[in-house]
Amino acid sequence: MRVNKSDTISRVKCVVNSCQYYESGDQCRAQEIEIQPRNASSTEETDCATFSPKY
Ligand code: SF4
Repeated sequence: MRVNKSDTISRVKCVVNSCQYYESGDQCRAQEIEIQPRNASSTEETDCATFSPKY
């Protein structure tokens, strides 16, 4: 899937280097990101719903 890439998001550090939006230096180039789920109760439960696999 082709994705639109934007400038890196300052204040977001992401280490998911298998994501299409990932930029070296642990940066994200998505236009916006969505984190889920609502009513999460732990760090482990939350994740980035904007993630799109590179391959
Ligand atoms: S879209 Fe989400 S998973 Fe992908 S680089 Fe950005 S913050 Fe990381």
